Amino acid sequence: MGQPLCAIAVTEPDTGSDVAAMRLKATKCEGGWILDGAKTWCTMAGKAGLLLVLARSNPDSSLGHKGLSMFLVEKDSYDGHDFEYRQPLGGVLTGRAIATIGYRGMHSYEVFFDHVFVPDDNLVGGPEGEGKGFYFTMAGFAGGRIQTAARAIGVMQAAFEKAVSYSQERKAFGKLIGDFQRTRVKLARMATLLTVSRQFTYAVGRLMDQGKGQMEASMVKLFTCRTAEWLTREAMQIHGGMGYAEETPVSRYFLDARVLSIFEGAEETLALKVIARSLIDAV
Ligand SMILES: Cc1cc2nc3c(=O)[nH]c(=O)nc-3n(C[C@H](O)[C@H](O)[C@H](O)COP(=O)(O)OP(=O)(O)OC[C@H]3O[C@@H](n4cnc5c(N)ncnc54)[C@H](O)[C@@H]3O)c2cc1C
Repeated sequence: MGQPLCAIAVTEPDTGSDVAAMRLKATKCEGGWILDGAKTWCTMAGKAGLLLVLARSNPDSSLGHKGLSMFLVEKDSYDGHDFEYRQPLGGVLTGRAIATIGYRGMHSYEVFFDHVFVPDDNLVGGPEGEGKGFYFTMAGFAGGRIQTAARAIGVMQAAFEKAVSYSQERKAFGKLIGDFQRTRVKLARMATLLTVSRQFTYAVGRLMDQGKGQMEASMVKLFTCRTAEWLTREAMQIHGGMGYAEETPVSRYFLDARVLSIFEGAEETLALKVIARSLIDAV
């Protein structure tokens, strides 16, 4: 884990996919900026020693995405499900973890900024970085998307292995369920889609290593995350009733896979705003 751990605070209670419309307010003051407003779904905000915050540094709403800047907010690290960080000058940062149906190995927080001071040095990109927060966010998202595709492959691999081992242990009608044709076809399709997902991810990774592949990062995220939903469902199905028990790992994989199509760019937004825009509008 990096030191200090850095959490990303882009999403707000009223705005998620429409990044250009973020509203958390950054007001210039002597030696820095004052942040006021709310963020939500900030993963690891409690444990983090640093929050990367997208904020509206220019109140002129006609500027749209050009009125956004990115700030690094330093804070103490906290265990547990809520925190309150008080700055010497009176600023207060509070957070509360949101209870979720899956992905429980990490916590995502609602975070409230009440007059939180950030020194000038913590404006990302220096003085020239003012107004460039939207572009920094988008550049970071491409990396987040291929990383999410890799996470989808991890959860698919785990689900596939459990499906294979269970099919070699569990009997029905006097036979191993892995001897039934239906199970074998399921496993073959799962292995095929897992292989396609993995190779597609490597191919996009190689493109990104050459400074390309921004649109392909959205494509691979869209494909692998949706595939992970299907594959973990099949793994659960092969487990029969035990697939639905909390004690069986595939039940967790199924829930964990579900969120992948939502964060780091919801699949509809990726399709519309990145993929279709690059392939169709650019022609
Ligand atoms: C577990 C978890 C962890 C997260 N971690 C972080 C984090 O660390 N930092 C952070 O900043 N955010 C984080 N997020 C937030 C995540 O990035 C957002 O939930 C996501 O961007 C979608 O935004 P939203 O929830 O506001 O949905 P909305 O933007 O309200 O969208 C709702 C639905 O409408 C669809 N939609 C929106 N616009 C369009 C359109 N133009 N055309 C068609 N459909 C559209 C969306 O695809 C979606 O299906 C996390 C979310 C979760 C669930």
